[in-house]
Amino acid sequence: MEEKNKSINIMDNKGFWPEKSSLVDAIKDVLSMGYCKKQFPVKDFGRFRSPQWRDEDDELVPWQSVDWYIYDALNEERMQVNAAALLRSLSNEPWRDERLLGEHYDIFVIEEDLFLPEEEGHGPGYCVGACRAFSGAVISTHRIEHIWGMPYSCTKTEIMRQFCFMLGIPSHLRDDVTKGPDATAYCQNNCILRPAYNAPQDWEELTEDRLRYGALCNSCRDDLQKHFADKKHFEN
Ligand SMILES: [Zn+2]
Repeated sequence: MEEKNKSINIMDNKGFWPEKSSLVDAIKDVLSMGYCKKQFPVKDFGRFRSPQWRDEDDELVPWQSVDWYIYDALNEERMQVNAAALLRSLSNEPWRDERLLGEHYDIFVIEEDLFLPEEEGHGPGYCVGACRAFSGAVISTHRIEHIWGMPYSCTKTEIMRQFCFMLGIPSHLRDDVTKGPDATAYCQNNCILRPAYNAPQDWEELTEDRLRYGALCNSCRDDLQKHFADKKHFEN
């Protein structure tokens, strides 16, 4: 019941190529690889700013703009956005009220650098994307947009990865997955759902493999198709 008829709401803070096209194409590719028959409404909020996004003192009003979501999660000392805090805001936002947008997936592409506090000490001190199960995903172009000739493809790779992780792909139950420090299950096969830590080189490699061999290994493709075939997600 968790996700029947949820829409996929997309936001970004640039609003131009390649982010927008990589975002739309990544969603389309994942849905078609999963043989998803259901039409997910994809709603593009772009660089969302409501008419009341600043108050009379010119301060950002909570929940009313992409700027606020980013500012609220910004660690000013590190000049990086706390991905966990941003995902928390997305999953607690008042827009999820049934009378407003209702339950939905958020996929948010930002240009600021991201970090995950849970990875402190094990990771390189930044992350390219992160997600919260069945709720939202955030992807930063900061470390991958300068990959020569491939900003569209590398951004698309990471959006596809986070979209799959958000849907619980790969399945934690498989024996060919490893758990990362943030508890995400990663695939061990030649597949975009394998772990990636060092940007840009890991994303460059993931993207070259995606273009050469396809995005997902057979087991992940099966998990994705099972996910969308599961009737309980689509009643009514
Ligand atoms: Zn896989």
